[in-house]
Order: sequence, then structure tokens, then C-alpha cells
Amino acid sequence: MNILPQLERLAKVLSFLPGIGERSALRMAVFLLESAPDYIDELSDSIKNIHTGIMFCEKCYTISDESICPICFSDRRDKSTICVVQSYIDMLAIENTDEYNGVFHVLHGLISPLKGIGISDIKVRELFERIEKDNPKEIIFALNHGLDSDTTISYIKKMIESKMADIKITRIAYGLSLSSDIEHSDTKSLGKSILDRTDIF
Ligand SMILES: [Zn+2]
Repeated sequence: MNILPQLERLAKVLSFLPGIGERSALRMAVFLLESAPDYIDELSDSIKNIHTGIMFCEKCYTISDESICPICFSDRRDKSTICVVQSYIDMLAIENTDEYNGVFHVLHGLISPLKGIGISDIKVRELFERIEKDNPKEIIFALNHGLDSDTTISYIKKMIESKMADIKITRIAYGLSLSSDIEHSDTKSLGKSILDRTDIF
């Protein structure tokens, strides 16, 4: 039996969502077909408006609805420690541990020669400008394990050290209980990995 064209079209766009395979996408499409019109209106309206009022924080480049995000704005955060993360979702994961009181810098990607992602494609230059201006005491790298992370860390570390010798550069600890993926790590293990961070030499 052929799938209805409307269902097929919707299932195809849904299948691009992270973690959604073709079968789940079709199941979601059927669910939506059978849903009340009010729910469909609310869903489509919230998708249409997802970019409304959204910007990058001028300091840390996280996604925010204000020009300076609440973390950068807060007096209670330690501005001398900057945790470098790949994405907004990883920043949220670290924030949820309640073990970190510094500020963040969101790179929005990693340097990857294989994927053609270079320095100008991510927020690296912005990090250097911020370090020169704010003169922090410590930079913590909280990036997933992998070749691209190693390349990114090595590049940033070299650049920092060529300009400022006295910044402590650390990386979150990876124990047996912490998976290589920050987003999917359990909160307790991730919190411990921040507390147990190690110097990078
Ligand atoms: Zn910010």
C-alpha cells in the first residue's frame, strides 16, 4: 500500500530531526494527522516563531533572547573562568550539574579539516578577543572526545600560549562513568568530571 503523499512529505522532514529514524518519523506523522487542529496550530506556530527574538550573546555566543545572556550578566558568576563548549546543548548539560560557577564560551562547532570546517566557521576568533580583553585565569575545555576536539583544543591552546603565558588551561576529566558525549552523560558524572578537570600540557 502506498503512503499518502501528505504523510510521506511530513515524515521525510521529520526524519531529519536528531535521533528520529524513518519509522519514528512516519509514526509521528500519523500521530499529527490524527491530532486535534488546536495542537497542530500550536506546533506549527511555535516552529515558525523559533527564530523570533533569538540572538547570540555578545560575550559568550550562546543562544539567548537578550544581547547579554543571564549567565554573563550575573554578578554571582566567576568571570575569571571560561568553559569552552561546542554547543548550546553541552552548555545546558554542564549548567545542569550545578558544579560550575564560571562563564562559558560556545564555539558552535569544532575545527575539522576533513569536513572543511575552519577557524572562521566557528567562534574561535571571538574567544581570543575575549581572552585578551577579559584576561581570565582559567580556560576549561569541555568538548566531546574525538579527533576534531583534539585539533580544536590544540589550536586554541597554542594561540593562547603564544599571547598569554599565565593562563591555566584544563580539560574535563573522562572517567569510566562518563561517556564520550557530554550531552548524554549523566549529570552526576559530568559534574564530577568538571571538578576533577586536569591540566593540559
Ligand atoms: Zn553570555
